Amino acid sequence: MAYPFAARESAPAASLRSPVGHGCAPWAWRLRRAWDDLLRRVPCDCPLCGGAAAGHLLCGACRDEVSASRAAAAHCPVCALPLRLRGQPCPDCALLRPAFDRVIAAFDYATPGDQLIRHMKSRRRHAHARTLAGLLADAVLAAEPPLPRHTIMVPVPASLGALKRRGFNPAAEVARALARRLPYALRPELLRRTREGRRQARLPREQRLSSVEHLYTCPVPVPGASIAVVDDVLTTGSTLDSIARAFKAAGAASVTGLVVARTPYTDSRPKR
Ligand SMILES: [Zn+2]
Ligand SMILES: [Zn+2]
Repeated sequence: MAYPFAARESAPAASLRSPVGHGCAPWAWRLRRAWDDLLRRVPCDCPLCGGAAAGHLLCGACRDEVSASRAAAAHCPVCALPLRLRGQPCPDCALLRPAFDRVIAAFDYATPGDQLIRHMKSRRRHAHARTLAGLLADAVLAAEPPLPRHTIMVPVPASLGALKRRGFNPAAEVARALARRLPYALRPELLRRTREGRRQARLPREQRLSSVEHLYTCPVPVPGASIAVVDDVLTTGSTLDSIARAFKAAGAASVTGLVVARTPYTDSRPKR
């Protein structure tokens, strides 16, 4: 779907600041929220332990276990990398500040939370996107400072190869579920790939950086926008950095990564 350029030309402020998910009318978004709140009360089995849960979310014990990694450990205030010392940026961010401003992650990529992501992607358990989005929404709502009210959420677009392989884009599924929980607009059309690109999971760390250079573009100006880029896993941060460069070239004031899981430092065979 093309970005509604004519509408933006006539009313740029309203277009960029609307807190309406999916760009629909406020009443439609409220209806969607009410429906989602209702679904969250429907009993189900916990996707991790099989115990009693509701609305495709984790039971309380599993939610606490998955989220514990973020509460207990120190993390880089920029890229959310797990660290030993609090309050300091990681060596990568200290040496060369990335184009994105910060990252909010639901949990560290480790057992048992990583199972949900692997099963969503490899076993096509789409319902897990809702579970993961619930965890990420909790992390976003607890983040300090909070995201600006006029923030626009944009999922990382998948390559055609990945779409053919999986049949869906995990980041888009998480973003769609996230938009039902958070009062931010979802505008996937604001980010495009410029080419197919190489498969990131097969590249070592240093090649990932060069492979995503100029891989993304924002097709319209977004002056002063607060952009939140949604993805399932953040590994080296090279994809988010490339996307942030594209948005800042289009005039965005800030770019935040909203990721379900943050991997520990790795210099080879990243998981994403
Ligand atoms: Zn459970
Ligand atoms: Zn960092």
